[in-house]
Formats: sequence, C-alpha cells, structure tokens
Amino acid sequence: MNIPFNRPYLTGHELEYIAQAHANGQLSGDGAFTRRCHVWLEQRTGARKALLTHSCTAALEMAAILLDLQPGDEVIMPSFTFVTTANAFVLRGAVPVFVDIRPDTLNIDESLIEQAITPRTRAVCVVHYAGVACEMDTIMAIAAKHGLKVVEDAAQGIFSTYKGRELGSIGDLAALSFHETKNVISGEGGALLINDQDLVERAEVIREKGTNRSKFFRGHVDKYTWVDIGSSYLPSELIAAFLAAQLEEASAITGRRLAIWNRYHEWAAALESGGRLRRPIIPTECAHNAHMYYLLLGNLADRTHFIDAMKAAGIGTVFHYIPLHSSPAGQRYARTNGTLHHTDATSDRLVRLPLWIGLEDHQDHVMQVARDILIKSMES
Ligand SMILES: *Cc1c(COP(=O)(O)O)cnc(C)c1O
Repeated sequence: MNIPFNRPYLTGHELEYIAQAHANGQLSGDGAFTRRCHVWLEQRTGARKALLTHSCTAALEMAAILLDLQPGDEVIMPSFTFVTTANAFVLRGAVPVFVDIRPDTLNIDESLIEQAITPRTRAVCVVHYAGVACEMDTIMAIAAKHGLKVVEDAAQGIFSTYKGRELGSIGDLAALSFHETKNVISGEGGALLINDQDLVERAEVIREKGTNRSKFFRGHVDKYTWVDIGSSYLPSELIAAFLAAQLEEASAITGRRLAIWNRYHEWAAALESGGRLRRPIIPTECAHNAHMYYLLLGNLADRTHFIDAMKAAGIGTVFHYIPLHSSPAGQRYARTNGTLHHTDATSDRLVRLPLWIGLEDHQDHVMQVARDILIKSMES
C-alpha cells in the first residue's frame, strides 16, 4: 500500500461549476464565479475586500507593490517560511530582515521584532505557520507604535482564528493560498485580502495590469487606460468556478481535517511523554484549521532516518523549510537580525505526516508504522 503525503480533495461539484462558467461564455477573470468567491471570502473572513489572484505568491507581490516599497526599504519576517514570503518583497528591491521564531508555535517571535526595526523598516510580514496564529495583538501594537504596515502571509491560515478573529482580517493586507497542498484548493490559486480601505482602489488597478478597468466596468470612467504599475494577477473564471465549489464545502473540509489532526495528536501524546518527539503546541487564543500535522524529532539524523523508513514502508512524509537565511538567494538579498537558533533547529527536526481527506481509512496504519520506527530508532 502506498500512502502519499498529499492527495488533493475534490468536492464533486468542481466540473459542474466549470461547465457553468463555460456556458456563461466568459472565461477570462472577474465573472460571476469570481464575484461569488469574493463575497464568500469577505463574509467568511470579515476582510474589507477580497481579490482572487492566481496564487498566494501573486497576492504577496501585490502587497509589496501596494506598500510602495523603495529599494533598500526593510521588511521584518521569519526565515522559517516559504520562499515567496521574502521573494515578493525582494522583487521591489526591498530587503527582508529575518528574525527567529518562537519554539512553541514556530511563528515569528514577536519579542524580537522591535530590536530589528531601523529607520528603513516599512513593514512586518508575519506567517501563520500550520494555520496557527502569530501573536497578533502584540505585533499590531508594535507596528502602530513605529508606523509600520502588517502583511499576513495566511497561505496556510484559512478558517483559523486568533482571539476569535479570522486570520487575514487583522493586518493591513493578507495573502491566502489555494494551491493543491492547502486546505481549500484550485490547483494554483490565491487571494489578496485588504483591510486598509485606502489600499482597495489601487489593489484593483495593480491586479488589472495597472489599468482602471474595474472602475470602467462599474461605469465610473468612460474608458479605461494605463494608470499605474501592475500585472495580470487575476485567475480565469474556470479557476474561480473550481474554487467556488471548494469554498462551499470549506467548513466540512476543515472539520474532517481536524478529526484527522486530533487523532494524530492523541496518538503522539504517549510518544511525547516518552521523550521521543515534541507535538505541535496550540496557544489557547488560537483556533487552528488542521492545515498540517508535524512532529519535532530529536535531531537531523533521527529525522532523516524517520523519513527514509516511512518511505520504505510506502508512506510519504516531508520536511521543510530550508531556512531562507541559509539559502543562496537569502544570503544575497536579505539580512538577519540576531541569532536564528530556533529556526535552524526546527528546520532540522520537523517532519510532516500525511494529512488529507480520505486518509481516515489508512491513518491507523500510518500511526502504527511511525510508532514502530520511532521506538526502534530510540532503542538502537
Ligand atoms: C503555500 C505558501 C505560499 C505560496 O502559495 P502559492 O499559492 O503556491 O503561491 C506562501 N507562503 C506560505 C507560508 C505558504 O505555505
């Protein structure tokens, strides 16, 4: 039996909605399905404005343009994240400034942000790792005190909350991902959430190749033209139709993922108390969306052995991230403030277990194989 690390979940309505989009005769972006997704996201997250993009990466690039970053401006962020968190800002000539993560949530350590601020600092980009919220009250207060913008990389955070507030509705801007490895998917896909009203109009322009096409469609101008920098960041209606089918099922998807997550968490408790691993830690003010289940093993050798042994048993597990500060581009384009001990240690020790809808039938097997490997390797 082969159990992959990820298997995209289909609700069963995707093709029907794509056929409808096709029948509607509008295949380019911003048609009926895109509007449906926008309304859904705005109502569900409480964000002031939602705009679909073709990826979370695109949404982050839009955020970087909206912040008007100039070459040499600095953006404080974790190094323990996906490449595009940093790359989006580097494309504007800005400099990512990495600070360490908290050992409990693996999110940016809010207590390290203030000491990384310089006269060039313009923004903080937080990453809600594994769909568990960063310490947003503290981060928003620091940003307000120093006049910084806050961007939430909420790629993994749809449906998670912090003190009852949806992730993506707290910072000035937020980016969601609908990549097939995320909870709610459209193959490739994303959204920019805009909470600062002053940024909404310009966001529409940037997303439409730097034109005022959205205004034109609303009848506010009688022809549309090039007014600003921008690119083509919107997805086609076919993607929006697929996504609409997923969003309708999003609560059920989260529920089923949470059931799998909770089973892993109960199972790993005994291994944790036996000193074989550390389980994820969820602060009480955070409700998470079961985006991933990870284990922190003893060290790099343990982790390598575990992944190899799981693979030999036909079970896919993965690790991430190569910390950005140790990557070739990170060294060229970014700098680090302070030590990144927790980032480095986490990167060596973390392994993600399979978590997808349908895994329910195989989860006992995954847990049994994993347990055997962990117990044997401790004995040898
Ligand atoms: C997945 C992910 C991204 C990129 O999302 P895409 O939609 O693939 O562009 C960015 N940041 C984080 C933290 C992610 O997990």
